[in-house]
Amino acid sequence: MTDLPSSARIVVIGGGIVGCSTAYHLAKLGAGEVLLLERGRLTSGSTWHAAGLVGQLRSSANITQLLGDSVKLYKSLEAETGLATGWKMNGGLRLACTEDRWTEVKRQATTARSFGLEMQLLSPKEAQELWPLMSVDDVVGAAFLPTDGQASPSDITQALARGARQGGVRIVEETGVTGVEVEGGRVVAIATTRGRVACEKLVICAGLWSREIGALAGVNIPLVPVQHQYIVTEAIEGVARNLPTLRDPDRLTYYKEEVGGLVMGGYEPNPIPWALDGPPQDFEFQLLGEDWDHFEPMMRLALGRVPALETAGVKQLINGPESFTPDGNFILGEAPETRNVFVGCGFNAFGIAAGGGAGMALAEWVAKGDAPYDLWPVDIRRFGANCRDTAYVRTRTLEAYAKHYAMAWPSEEHASGRPLRRSPLYDRLKAAGAAFGEKLGWERPNWFAGPGEEARDVYSFERPNWFDAVAREHAACRERVALFDQSSFAKFLLVGRDAEKALSWICANDVAKPVGSLTYTQMLNARGGIECDLTVARLAEDRFYIVTGTGFATHDFDWIARNIPADCDAHLIDVTSSRAVLSLFGPRARDVLAAVTRDDVSNEGFPFATCREIAVAGAPTLALRVTYVGELGWELHVPTEFAATAYDALMAAGAAHGIAPAGYRAIETLRLEKGYRAWGSEIGPDHTPQMAGLGWAVKLKSGQPFLGRDALVEKARAPSPRLLAGFTVDDPGVTLLGRETILRDGARVGWLASGGFGHTIGKPIGYGYVRDPAGVDAAHVLSGDYQLEVAGVFVPATPFLKPLYDPAMTRIKA
Ligand SMILES: Cc1cc2nc3c(=O)[nH]c(=O)nc-3n(C[C@H](O)[C@H](O)[C@H](O)COP(=O)(O)OP(=O)(O)OC[C@H]3O[C@@H](n4cnc5c(N)ncnc54)[C@H](O)[C@@H]3O)c2cc1C
Repeated sequence: MTDLPSSARIVVIGGGIVGCSTAYHLAKLGAGEVLLLERGRLTSGSTWHAAGLVGQLRSSANITQLLGDSVKLYKSLEAETGLATGWKMNGGLRLACTEDRWTEVKRQATTARSFGLEMQLLSPKEAQELWPLMSVDDVVGAAFLPTDGQASPSDITQALARGARQGGVRIVEETGVTGVEVEGGRVVAIATTRGRVACEKLVICAGLWSREIGALAGVNIPLVPVQHQYIVTEAIEGVARNLPTLRDPDRLTYYKEEVGGLVMGGYEPNPIPWALDGPPQDFEFQLLGEDWDHFEPMMRLALGRVPALETAGVKQLINGPESFTPDGNFILGEAPETRNVFVGCGFNAFGIAAGGGAGMALAEWVAKGDAPYDLWPVDIRRFGANCRDTAYVRTRTLEAYAKHYAMAWPSEEHASGRPLRRSPLYDRLKAAGAAFGEKLGWERPNWFAGPGEEARDVYSFERPNWFDAVAREHAACRERVALFDQSSFAKFLLVGRDAEKALSWICANDVAKPVGSLTYTQMLNARGGIECDLTVARLAEDRFYIVTGTGFATHDFDWIARNIPADCDAHLIDVTSSRAVLSLFGPRARDVLAAVTRDDVSNEGFPFATCREIAVAGAPTLALRVTYVGELGWELHVPTEFAATAYDALMAAGAAHGIAPAGYRAIETLRLEKGYRAWGSEIGPDHTPQMAGLGWAVKLKSGQPFLGRDALVEKARAPSPRLLAGFTVDDPGVTLLGRETILRDGARVGWLASGGFGHTIGKPIGYGYVRDPAGVDAAHVLSGDYQLEVAGVFVPATPFLKPLYDPAMTRIKA
């Protein structure tokens, strides 16, 4: 047995594909002493029994790029290490059997092309030529990704392990991690079955077991094991070695060639969770019992596609456990709870496809302290307090598993585990016809059904059933006044003697303003990229109130907390639950507010970008004069127990002014017209404020130091390779959803980060970056002749850089 060192700079737990890939890339980065510990033998968890399909296309450009990095690595790994990997780039086919699915596939092909992946659209006959064994009677069309492929999961992992060893990584098998020592909020050592190992950094790549190991370090990792099955057949005549992989989502199944036969697996709509009390510690190179009853519906669906399966001999039905997550994406990054504990797990049955790229990204994160690029869709900080409970995680995860091959509808909401977090206004809003959406467990009104309408989403790639309702709310806000329940906003207090100093360092905008000031600001990473986009209210010399988006609660808290300089007396406290938020927006907002308060809410008495305590119908309220919709208005932050009283009073006073309750989908259409950016859509860690047209909110000229400043100064020396632009389409019947390709003078220059409809201007609106390595400025953007590719159709588009709708500014100043 290999000796166990008493210390290592970095310990990686888990010898599956992800742990081995991370160790391999840490070695490449020269990250110092790396020790990989595997409780059993390498590959003995989920990796050895994976089917080995390697697909690349995802709905995020960066995750697609990450999967593309896997492919690049798998292509060269055998030559580098001398170990066979079974890598074959035989391409991947995806079938569409309904018109809606065909629209989805066409939109995916547009997305692929936006992201630089070739994806061809084929007729059923052309698809059949590539996959002669299949019947195509019900096929409407297909897509082919020539660079997809398949690999031997164990062989790839062993090759990565060899590459890691060659780079100096110590791999020790048959050594289980049994404890994690944390001191002062940081990991300092681990306990193993063979003794203690001191370490500076810990990387948890323990597959199904990661949740339990995370708990040892005080880290919440929301994943649960679920059974997943596939069959392996004997050789079938006509199955060629170069047969592409095949995904048949309408029949819930996938296929690949294996030794002249087929592997066929599927995603059952009624998945079976495994190991409810945590996976056993001695589960090594084991499978679960064959469950033919459960697999039979998959088999029947597959027979309709591949009639040859009827007579093919089945060698084995593999039933293996795999870790799945509540949103179907894997989990990467540094845990917010404990410093220097990193996570790479929850691969939702695409760990072989993702392993190469995820290991690369995670290794950089570990070695350099920052992700190589924006990885928000897989960032561990995308989860919230709702995901601490395993039963909830399991419920939502089973829904995600069951929907693996379901249509991915625009704006689709999860159905399970609801309602969980409710604002005090929930029942009132429901009675008023709210159709709710969910974020981080919060129920939030998306739109309000009118008389004769049902408060239920009916999804579509064209105009959805809530279009008219949102148009009504949008008009109410623009023309009269609307009341939005935004209680789910994340809210933090930063308190302490040095709160101003700390926040001045973390914020790109100037927040060192008088008490009562309100500042919209970004927080930047060392690359000058936007990590947070939020509002800061100064309540006192030593007290700031920070408001950010619901979904960013964990991420933004972590970002602020970890960047408070060590010598500062400044403490961050999450106060989200203490206040409900009633956002009163619209030209009549002042009239309504004035009717329920004795405080001065005139423009002189309560100017834009200020905040103050006022009384609203007896509720002590922190009022923030701010807007995300381009109208006069206030966010009223009301202690939770006063919320219902304040809401009733505002609605009653608003009746004379035509007030309407309104939801998040109207906020979206309103902000698209006003040009406000949304983090996670148009802005994120890869975009500087300058690229995003937010340079006006950065205190560069002040000379004050702040995080990310040096990078901005450096970047300003060269022309920006991209600039955020808005686009409108004249045809109101075009549906923009985001990811449509942007063509400038016939050349692909980017894709839409977001899309929607502007009900006041009566046109579809999209935002996306126009790219050109030689540099992009406003003149370049505005001088082009543009088209957008929407589900394969090219539509003329007009670029813009200024808000489409701004008369509110004159009202606000009036
Ligand atoms: C039936 C099936 C088919 C699949 N098909 C595909 C496919 O076609 N394509 C694809 O991309 N993916 C597929 N997958 C998914 C793929 O297998 C996984 O995503 C991938 O193997 C996950 O790798 P991992 O390294 O995260 O986890 P694992 O391979 O499970 O590795 C984790 C390792 O951690 C070790 N460990 C656990 N606890 C400890 C401890 N306390 N101390 C030390 N070591 C510990 C375990 O022993 C294990 O070896 C499939 C999965 C299943 C179940």
